[in-house]
Amino acid sequence: MSETDLILKNNYDVEFLLIETSHPGNIGACARAIKNMGFGKLGLVNPSNFPSDEAFYRAKGAGDILDDVKIYSNLDDALAEKTIVLGTSARDRTIPWPTVFTNEIIKENLNLKIDSKISILFGREKSGLTNEELQRCHLHLKIPSSEEYSSLNLSHAVQIISYELRNMFLGSSKNLIKADVPKSTDKDDEFLLKHIDKVLLDLNFYDQNSSRQVKARIKRLLKKARPDKLEVGILRGFLSKIQEALNK
Ligand code: SAH
Repeated sequence: MSETDLILKNNYDVEFLLIETSHPGNIGACARAIKNMGFGKLGLVNPSNFPSDEAFYRAKGAGDILDDVKIYSNLDDALAEKTIVLGTSARDRTIPWPTVFTNEIIKENLNLKIDSKISILFGREKSGLTNEELQRCHLHLKIPSSEEYSSLNLSHAVQIISYELRNMFLGSSKNLIKADVPKSTDKDDEFLLKHIDKVLLDLNFYDQNSSRQVKARIKRLLKKARPDKLEVGILRGFLSKIQEALNK
């Protein structure tokens, strides 16, 4: 294995995650695309048809990636231990998330650490990622395609994004350090958000008509802050004290 590929393999834990993919041929083509760029982990959330001969046929020399594929029955399981989640989409959403064009990701300070566990989410062929799925992400990645017809074939999107991420990772690998405290995982963030929700309900904070928007905006604030485990712990301790005071 070349030195470049060893840097990628040894320093980065990256899983490309395909959500509810319909066509097994696309799954195979995605396996090939990520192997071409030196990545090795493919995850599938509820694929319609897998394993299948068609997937292995389209993967060509990347059958090993399909042999090792991880299948998840829901997004919570797929993201539980991940510390950086990137979502890919051609479409802007009502509550815009921090968005980066793929060719500019290299300039983005993702603050990668040695122990980062990264997941890149890709949506369904017909309908892409839901708003809720995109709201689990720290950043949205957008391929700057033609506005007239912006949505690429799934495996083509995986190809471009894996190529850009390869460049980004190889460019930042010299600066990798260990964090003083590990970053919070998606599961830590979900528990914190549930805790905030509970306290806000108890405080009668929500206006019934706008509670969903408020929740999404709090979620976006948390994802932008990218807290570590200790910071999440402090916030949860603070919320518990509010609950104690309310119950007195
Ligand atoms: N019809 C769907 C698009 C599905 S394309 C929609 O309207 O959302 C399948 C997947 O490929 C998308 O969910 C996304 O993960 C990725 N993709 C396609 N085009 C993209 C683009 N321009 N930028 C980023 N990701 C893209």
